[in-house]
Amino acid sequence: MIERIPVYLLTGFLGSGKTTLLARWLKQAPLRNAALIVNEVGAVALDHAMLGHAGEAPALIADACICCSGLPALHEALENLFWARLYRSIERFDCVVIETTGLADPAPLVASMNSHAFIHERYRLAGVVTTIGAPTALQTIDSFSEARAQLDAANVIVLTKTDVADDATRRQLMQTLQRSHPSTRVLCSANADLGSADVLRYLDDARAAPKEPLRTSWRPPIRPRIGAGFSRDGSSARHASHTRFEAIEGIARLDALNTQLDVLIERHRNTLLRMKGIVRMRDGAAFIVQFARGDRHASVTNALPRSGGPEVASGVTLILRDL
Ligand SMILES: [Zn+2]
Repeated sequence: MIERIPVYLLTGFLGSGKTTLLARWLKQAPLRNAALIVNEVGAVALDHAMLGHAGEAPALIADACICCSGLPALHEALENLFWARLYRSIERFDCVVIETTGLADPAPLVASMNSHAFIHERYRLAGVVTTIGAPTALQTIDSFSEARAQLDAANVIVLTKTDVADDATRRQLMQTLQRSHPSTRVLCSANADLGSADVLRYLDDARAAPKEPLRTSWRPPIRPRIGAGFSRDGSSARHASHTRFEAIEGIARLDALNTQLDVLIERHRNTLLRMKGIVRMRDGAAFIVQFARGDRHASVTNALPRSGGPEVASGVTLILRDL
């Protein structure tokens, strides 16, 4: 049997810092050579723009969440990567990293890695890594079945943004997660300082020791309720959320941009799950805008100079919870 190509699945709730961690991991040895598949919902191909991956451009699956309608596109991306590697039309990669949307339930993808014959013969799922942001972790777990499904699928859970939480909160969160997921390794990352080698090490262990069943006290993921009003076509219906793009153009000063972002956040305070985008100022400077639930203001940072690819519209995509 030929050596199958390892696939790492990176998932985690909206705003939990997946992309920030991944951007760092792609610069480090174990994953430097990875082929990348990015799944995101919303008009802006931003995660791609933010990753700054030195290797081959990532395959992008936009506007179709891979747990809803996007699974065929994902299989196609894996097939295309396999042939491109075989015929050497792209640089040889050692493994594949799939980054899911922040609302994706990884279970359908995990199941299809075994049931899809072409994929199963050529790829093996080497592990599922799930991020969850410390500042909003408990509320996220309580409110979002997607977050629970992501944690349940994980071989390694990474508690992120622990620099924002105090020591006691961090310890308590670690204990809570470890108790609810006894066979899953729980790691901490402050300021995205967790190295990829530290995570991959535990994935190798996880392969040797299969996961134990979850404790019954853990609340069930979304699936049993699909029949009750959830639609299979379109992420918005299934995840009870929708996206909206707000164009932001012609702004001259940074403080004016910050004010406009504050107004947007305030207007959607009760339903805003995530906001991100690239805003180009009147003088041509570009900024990455990001906001996650629990943040007070949006973060605005310099965007890297663009190197080809389609032009991204100036503005932000909002992911809003349906009321
Ligand atoms: Zn989905």
